[in-house]
Amino acid sequence: MSNSLSDNKGTHCVHSGGLPDEATAGVNSPVYTSSAFDYRTEAGVMYPRYFNTPNQMAVARKIAALEETDQALIFSSGLAATYAAFLTFLKAGDHILLTSDIYGGTQHLVQAEFPKLGITFDFVDCKQESAIAAAIRPNTKMLYVETPSNPLMRLTDLELIGRIVKKHELISMCDNTFASPINQNPIKHGIDVVMHSGTKYLGGHSDLIFGVLAYAQQHHESIRATAVNLGGNINAQTASLIERSMKTLHLRVREQNANALRIAQFLQAHPKVDRVHYPGLATHPEYELAKKQMSGFGGMLSFEIKDADLKACELFLNNLKLIRPAVSLGGVETLINSSVRTSHAKLSLEERAKAGIKENLLRLSVGIETVEDLIQDLQQSLQKLGN
Ligand SMILES: *Cc1c(COP(=O)(O)O)cnc(C)c1O
Repeated sequence: MSNSLSDNKGTHCVHSGGLPDEATAGVNSPVYTSSAFDYRTEAGVMYPRYFNTPNQMAVARKIAALEETDQALIFSSGLAATYAAFLTFLKAGDHILLTSDIYGGTQHLVQAEFPKLGITFDFVDCKQESAIAAAIRPNTKMLYVETPSNPLMRLTDLELIGRIVKKHELISMCDNTFASPINQNPIKHGIDVVMHSGTKYLGGHSDLIFGVLAYAQQHHESIRATAVNLGGNINAQTASLIERSMKTLHLRVREQNANALRIAQFLQAHPKVDRVHYPGLATHPEYELAKKQMSGFGGMLSFEIKDADLKACELFLNNLKLIRPAVSLGGVETLINSSVRTSHAKLSLEERAKAGIKENLLRLSVGIETVEDLIQDLQQSLQKLGN
């Protein structure tokens, strides 16, 4: 936990990227809604799909500051961001390695679209250096990881990934959605491109959808050129809402970190809970790595209810009063879901067993409510399971 108190992320959240309001001296960035701009200016042509209008750039600068890098681009969804990065660095004949416990939407994008483009891919366990090394081919161009992973919160060693891509001259990319830039900055550990589904922690109120790429200056022209061709930009009103949401990102994430740790400890001590998966618990297989590469353990955790089948899990979810069963994550409200019923519903029993995802596994996205109320809600519903 290197820098949780000494960093200046709070200042970046509030101030970085903000636009001056010269007309009224107001403290907020003005919202410039135009999609048509006079082209006879020094700045050149502005247009929303060029990703260069003032409110888009304000958000991009804030995120680049928080990821401690030079540049960022803001997209209409996380997957739009991922796809733009893939098409920047990959072409027909190339090969990409992706971590095996990847977000389902990213996996589906790769499996459904890459065969049409002549790009080949393999999924590997990126916790194992030997597995990665064995999977690299002469035409491998990218290595894509996600840490912590969904739903078991397993960690990938970012420094190890950084070393491997340097040696083999690959582009590395990390989905940093679960950690948020408050808890983890992959570029510092040698990753080239960071991706976020901003829909989750950055937006933080379950009412916006957007995506982010952040990276060093050297990648800016190529990524932006691809993005301009693909579209997938946001408009000024959305950018303004993102900017406002992100002013409290550090406060939200710190509270989510603290609440999640308390809940993980409560669940771990509960007789009706088998296992808790949270990087902040000493029993987590990558606890030491978490302390090294994260500055907070995050607001995501999962747990297994003892001897519970799908029906018992359903009963447990139905008996919750405050915590809502829902997909998505990262908002101010605490959400819960069954991985078998949601993110991993399409897997066969065999695939699920291989991934270690049992039917009694529930995933929590911990919000910023008063933690005692959340614990009380879990407690009363666990109690009702009987025996
Ligand atoms: C939601 C999510 C995505 C996809 O983001 P969208 O904004 O839905 O396109 C990618 N990665 C992770 C880890 C996510 O949770």
